[in-house]
Amino acid sequence: MAEDGLAAALRARIEGEVVVAGDPGYDRLRSVFNARIDRRPLAIARCASREDVVAALAAGAERGLPVAVRGGGTSDLATLDAGLVVDVGPLDRVAIDPEAATVRVGGGATWRELDAAAQEHGLAVTGARVPRLGVAGVALAGGSGWLERALGPTCAGVVGAEVVLAGGRTARAGDEDPDLLWALRGGAGGFGVVTELELRLHPLDPTLLSGFLGFPRERALEVGGAFRDLLEHGPDELGGALMLGAGIGGACSAVVAFAGSVANGEEAVAPLRALGPSIDAVAPNEYTALQHLFDVRNPHGSRVHLRGGYLRELPDEALERVIAAANRPAAALSHLLLQPLGGALERLDPDAMALRIPDAPWAYRCFGLWPPVESLDRGAIDWVDGIAAALEPYTLATAHPGFLAPRPEPYRSATGGADERATRLESIRQRCDPEGTLRPDPPAIHARAPR
Ligand SMILES: Cc1cc2nc3c(=O)[nH]c(=O)nc-3n(C[C@H](O)[C@H](O)[C@H](O)COP(=O)(O)OP(=O)(O)OC[C@H]3O[C@@H](n4cnc5c(N)ncnc54)[C@H](O)[C@@H]3O)c2cc1C
Repeated sequence: MAEDGLAAALRARIEGEVVVAGDPGYDRLRSVFNARIDRRPLAIARCASREDVVAALAAGAERGLPVAVRGGGTSDLATLDAGLVVDVGPLDRVAIDPEAATVRVGGGATWRELDAAAQEHGLAVTGARVPRLGVAGVALAGGSGWLERALGPTCAGVVGAEVVLAGGRTARAGDEDPDLLWALRGGAGGFGVVTELELRLHPLDPTLLSGFLGFPRERALEVGGAFRDLLEHGPDELGGALMLGAGIGGACSAVVAFAGSVANGEEAVAPLRALGPSIDAVAPNEYTALQHLFDVRNPHGSRVHLRGGYLRELPDEALERVIAAANRPAAALSHLLLQPLGGALERLDPDAMALRIPDAPWAYRCFGLWPPVESLDRGAIDWVDGIAAALEPYTLATAHPGFLAPRPEPYRSATGGADERATRLESIRQRCDPEGTLRPDPPAIHARAPR
């Protein structure tokens, strides 16, 4: 059998911990953020160095095993049945070069670590809105966060990487391998195991005007329209999202983050304040505090159903439809973010990265999150699908690579179909991983209809 001697081979060859069924920690490490994913790997190799990754991949390859890479463990792809998990979590080193304004992070570092270290030097790069997410996993998927209209997507900041390819050779994305660098910038993974990532940082004052303005839900259309009009014409430094919680009693919040001076930020958000919010929680906050704003809304171990897309426009009619859909009751943690694009996202060099952001003014991300009780699935999934259906007439075909659920295209078309980009990505994947060892099948729950 494929697993024969796997654990022993791994234990003999890697310094990090090797975890198999029955070991303490197996259930924790085989699980991911989404409790609907229940997969049983043959072994989990907790890699503490590049050498560990090379040795783990070799042990898997000798047995012809598929491999899943686990970074922050927030996607559904970080675990698998009957294969090997290469867990790069222990590779969490963060080293800032303040002079060069760059950071080198281990392949398993999270945004919590990077944001805190960079902000000590008044620096930042667009990071995910949930700090427990992995830096590498987010960058490979493009990377979206509060600062994106000012600083661009995370992947635009990737300037180099050390990558262990499936065959065990180490490649250096950058001057040595510009094609691989291009692919790592939002190409959705499947090229190898990133053991180190280098990102360019930007100056960001540790205190920025940020937070949210909360309104009664019955004002959602008025607030949504005002938020849209402001953000469509607002300065690039102004980022944020309109957030709607589930049900008529759910949140209706304008989340804002101004990546510039507090005085200019006050001016930029004045039109929203003029609406007279019931809660004004916009203040000069530390960026690292802003990053934790939604921690309680995103607890690890929830059951999850995600939908997202780019919107060609956001007219009042779209707002009316989506508010009506959001007004249906669902699990309390579920929420919708309507996110403005534009700004730096509009000025990306299409030749510099695999990520493709279509010409669209808005994106939506709908997070269905509910307690780990299976009988809640149907209502919670319906709520998310209802939002997607309401926005469907305005949604472009291009999916966000980090939001493959619930209908993943074949892995290679995650960045937009069989076009020139997809062909280039596929040829890079062929070179880096000819056997397809690192291209996990999406978990079955995403392949079948939700009920
Ligand atoms: C609740 C929630 C909130 C989210 N919020 C955001 C957000 O604000 N912004 C955003 O951009 N995205 C967001 N996402 C999507 C998220 O970016 C992707 O799921 C991302 O790929 C997660 O990376 P990870 O390392 O945390 O997870 P993992 O599941 O560990 O990794 C995700 C993928 O990247 C690959 N990968 C990770 N690390 C490495 C590595 N070192 N080398 C090679 N491959 C690697 C894995 O193989 C896997 O396929 C969110 C997802 C959820 C569930």
